Amino acid sequence: MCRHLAYLGPPVTLARLLTEPAHSLYEQSWRPARQRHGTVNADGFGVGWYPDRADTTEGDPGLPRPARYRRAVPVWADANFPELARTITSRTVLAAVRSATAGTTQDESAAAPFRDGRWLFSHNGAVPDWTRLPTDLTAAEALALETHSDSAVLWAMIVRRLRRGEPPAGALAAVVRQVGAARPTARLNLLLTDGHTITATAWGDTLWYRTGPGTVLVASEPDDTPGDWREAPDRSLLLATTAGVRIIPLRAPDPSPK
Ligand code: GLN
Repeated sequence: MCRHLAYLGPPVTLARLLTEPAHSLYEQSWRPARQRHGTVNADGFGVGWYPDRADTTEGDPGLPRPARYRRAVPVWADANFPELARTITSRTVLAAVRSATAGTTQDESAAAPFRDGRWLFSHNGAVPDWTRLPTDLTAAEALALETHSDSAVLWAMIVRRLRRGEPPAGALAAVVRQVGAARPTARLNLLLTDGHTITATAWGDTLWYRTGPGTVLVASEPDDTPGDWREAPDRSLLLATTAGVRIIPLRAPDPSPK
């Protein structure tokens, strides 16, 4: 199921991050090395990035509004993507290649990243019997889902917490615990950024990270660029900024907001 990554650091081209590394996300779409479920990630892909200035989030002046490029085709089948990738530069990027879960929408609306205001989100995993998952969504929220998939339901559950002002770590931890309790075999590797921080969970699939001076990369698996790659343990929450990474076991009580 899916491979995803998020980056914070000095401006890089999307190509540098997504296609140039020896075992890039691009390669991971047909040859993932550590993926625990599924074989190829050919059911679409998406990239979200933050422009340096200008376009700010509506009602939230000063905060960057991310842009997205999502397609339903395999990333290797998109002849336009290399043109964008070599010319778009950003300090924050979130990208995913998708292996669709049965019963979900196949078009680009189901490809990560999902977005709300300044937030970008991706889900690597699957929730069994997700159409009957008990949630606290209102009927209006359920009807407003962007697409028909388990990831969209998870995202709506997280968005309502973020909109209430909950910190991202608390929102992800609460939703993973809630869904994990209702669906013990669910796989819930979540990835969230607001342009300045990355919050992620490892819950059923692999999660790695690499830090360097003023830079951090969080990814489903290493892309084989040199560096100190470390694996986050399963059932953990990862909080990353360019200053460092914190890992918190997810069985523990909610982390207090920073
Ligand atoms: N279940 C989600 C979907 O169908 C995510 C699958 C995955 O991990 N790629 O899109």
